Amino acid sequence: MFVDHAKIKIKAGDGGDGAVSFHREKYVAAGGPDGGDGGRGGDIIFQVDDNFSTLIDFRYKRKYAAERGENGSGRNCTGKSAPPLIIKVPRGTVIKDAETGRIMADMSTDEPKVLARGGNGGKGNVNFATSTRQIPRFAKPGFPGEEFEVTLELKLLADVGLVGFPNVGKSTLISVVSAAKPKIANYHFTTLTPVLGAVKTGEEKSFVMADIPGLIEGAGDGVGLGHEFLRHVERCRLIVHVVDVSGVEGRDPKDDFRIINEELAKFNSELAERPQIVAANKTDMATDEQIADFRKFIEEKGIPFYCISAATTKGTHELVMKISEMLDTLPPIREFEAEPIPQAQLDEMAGAGKSFEITVEDGVYFVNAPWIQPIMRTINPDDYSSLQYFQRVLINSGIIAKLEEMGINEGDTVNLEGFEFDFVY
Ligand code: GDP
Ligand code: MG
Repeated sequence: MFVDHAKIKIKAGDGGDGAVSFHREKYVAAGGPDGGDGGRGGDIIFQVDDNFSTLIDFRYKRKYAAERGENGSGRNCTGKSAPPLIIKVPRGTVIKDAETGRIMADMSTDEPKVLARGGNGGKGNVNFATSTRQIPRFAKPGFPGEEFEVTLELKLLADVGLVGFPNVGKSTLISVVSAAKPKIANYHFTTLTPVLGAVKTGEEKSFVMADIPGLIEGAGDGVGLGHEFLRHVERCRLIVHVVDVSGVEGRDPKDDFRIINEELAKFNSELAERPQIVAANKTDMATDEQIADFRKFIEEKGIPFYCISAATTKGTHELVMKISEMLDTLPPIREFEAEPIPQAQLDEMAGAGKSFEITVEDGVYFVNAPWIQPIMRTINPDDYSSLQYFQRVLINSGIIAKLEEMGINEGDTVNLEGFEFDFVY
């Protein structure tokens, strides 16, 4: 079964807890603290694997959690960090935050991508010993790992997408110009999965063609099967619109052309702008008048027009050469950029009313506010506006006011969820 979308939950590992421990040795009275830090939780990493061609596995397994970091232990031992959990996906999978639709990654290249970061380990009590507090009887818990619900959408990587009504000859065309062997039959919806084929046009030259299963009227609104497959046209650099010019099924080729284009535009207005070639197929069954009439209609729109007969391969070579020539002038296959978390969402995360707790331990102000962690990950300490934003979060949430109320002085240390900085007004 060809499955090209799925929704799963991913959870990176929590950090291990810091340890409370004291050095013990024979004949040594009171040993100092030696509780080590917890280990880091495992990341969730996505990686392309070309052995997969569908997302079917994600229909059966929907929860993915990386391991927790080990707790710290005595003798200053840091807990072991957990290994990452690597999730393999077919090439072309686009990962989005299910809640907001934000694109988190486009798995088109071999570069592995970290989608959820493991939590850092908590500090062991060895870190909290000072001259005035020699016996720190506390340590810090590990930080939670990031957690998301994500949608996976497979958007095939093809240079050219074949679109058209069912039964116009798309599968026949791809089977005669490439090594792909899709099912061909004289009934609608023979092809239920997109098929990719490499088309060789020269010694070292080729392009990838995708046979997009039959679109029908209403596909853009989710009627029939078409909608399911339109996402695969999104990356195509060029659309080859296959039309049955013989009208053997009783439709007017001009209507076919118009209807399919409307469906494309409805699905994604960008698709309406995508360069197109019209391949008028089944010319072996069409009259010269039919062909001339349709040619005029298409050429008036300034769209390249090719007459073919996929069944007899007449004209298919010329079509392929034209496709190749056009591709040379077009930008490369589209990759989707990962989108940053929108400001509004960050603001919401950082909004007033978020609870926090501040404790003073030996002159250090420990701020406990787990909700700030995702925000802190987005802060770039080398960037002035980013730091200003961070400052605003601290003010809006009331953390600064609370610190002042507690009598903090300029230069005192603030430990915000493990991140330490000097307080300045
Ligand atoms: P698809 O649904 O667009 O993939 O169409 P297919 O490639 O499965 O073809 C549908 C039917 O049209 C099959 O019976 C093909 O043999 C037939 N067909 C395809 N191309 C031609 C052609 O150029 N001439 C004629 N006469 N029949 C064709
Ligand atoms: Mg087909």
